[in-house]
Amino acid sequence: MPNLLFMKQKAGAFGLSRGGTIVDEIVLHGTESLGTETQSLDYLSSANKDNHSTHYWIGRTQGLLYSITPEEKLTYHAGNPKKHPTVKDHNPRSIGIEMYQIDPAKARKAGGKPDFSDWQYDTVVQLVYDICYRRKIKRSMVVAHGAINPIDRADPQGFDWDRFKEGLYFLSFRMGAAMGADYFLLD
Ligand SMILES: [Zn+2]
Repeated sequence: MPNLLFMKQKAGAFGLSRGGTIVDEIVLHGTESLGTETQSLDYLSSANKDNHSTHYWIGRTQGLLYSITPEEKLTYHAGNPKKHPTVKDHNPRSIGIEMYQIDPAKARKAGGKPDFSDWQYDTVVQLVYDICYRRKIKRSMVVAHGAINPIDRADPQGFDWDRFKEGLYFLSFRMGAAMGADYFLLD
């Protein structure tokens, strides 16, 4: 997974016990930032009033990929802080990947629309493949934050799921063909 060679580490502020819950899900996010990539990375890796963090962070700029919270730890990226009765806390079971993105409202106001860079698509495909392969997580268990908490969240906005799913499918296919059946991801 060549893009993962760029991965750096920046220790997070919230690494808690998963309480024995098995990790079976990956949640994709867009940061919807008001600031720069550096500010986004610093915010998610330091103590903040929202108790917000992530396991991985992918910048828009080629080469920017950080591991923040160890996968075996729970961190706060997909909870239910407002206690909606219909929303479940996905933090114990999931690994979070934040993709840096400028706030979509700000992007729209400037005449653009929310999107992600080629580096982000390539990297999120490789990172998700790596996690799914190691942990035997099904491809179908990669979800949008907005799908598990549609009341509060809509991220990652403008993310091309067809492109992502096709990329993951072909990577799984290539790995399985080259390395053997164990390397095909589970559906
Ligand atoms: Zn999110």
